[in-house]
Amino acid sequence: MFTVTMLGSGSRGNAILVDGSAGSLLVDAGFGVRTLAKRFDAAARRPEDVGALLLTHEHVDHACGAAAACDRWSWTVHASAATHTALAVQASGAPADVAVLGMSGQLSLCGFTVEHAPLPHDASDCRAFVLTDDASGARAGIVLDAGHVPEGLAAFLERLDLLVLESNHDEAMLANGPYPAPLKARIGGGQGHLSNRAASGLAAACAHRGLTQQQPHACILRSLLRLLLCLLLSCRRLLFCLRLCGRRLFLLPLRLLLCLLLGRRLLCV
Ligand SMILES: [Zn+2]
Repeated sequence: MFTVTMLGSGSRGNAILVDGSAGSLLVDAGFGVRTLAKRFDAAARRPEDVGALLLTHEHVDHACGAAAACDRWSWTVHASAATHTALAVQASGAPADVAVLGMSGQLSLCGFTVEHAPLPHDASDCRAFVLTDDASGARAGIVLDAGHVPEGLAAFLERLDLLVLESNHDEAMLANGPYPAPLKARIGGGQGHLSNRAASGLAAACAHRGLTQQQPHACILRSLLRLLLCLLLSCRRLLFCLRLCGRRLFLLPLRLLLCLLLGRRLLCV
């Protein structure tokens, strides 16, 4: 069984549990250990069963719990060298048991083949992941904070069964919204976060490249701002793009919201 559980998503913290046939991985630990433990419990899962922690980058909402969680549950942390260095100067500290990811490539971990690729973001060295369950071949792509879609990312995300994709903001709503100008510039900049338009373009490109009509698929839109309207706008634009692609895709926005609120299991493939 290959399952993906959103333990948390957004600026308040991120953690994604991926269970495979032979083990479990956690992507990001953006909560303290008490909150993480509660969210594992709500999902009827045990942190002790996690074999390793993958970090996308060092920002607090992705990594603030990494050191303490690894100390408590004996996880090994896999992240880029720059991410490890950045964590060492943060208040939460650097995890004790670390393994450094190279510039790109793949590794075998807890029954998964883990592929990683760089993402443009205002962090030291942000990464996207594709996790393939070695036993079943099921593949999940995870693209969180990214300022724009770099060349080659759609090809990196080929043949996915599930894509977790940040869809952060509507460009017009951000421009006209109440946020301070520096924050608007950061979010909408090339090293900030994906707009709904950019995310829908990437999802459409992935649909062209990998998704077929013979298997269950899903695309999960992740909204940092937690604005339902933005999410609905994202879905509408994405559905339009996918209709152009002529591909079938199951969108689960309401279920996603429930999962985010309740920490429930998101999808079984
Ligand atoms: Zn970030």
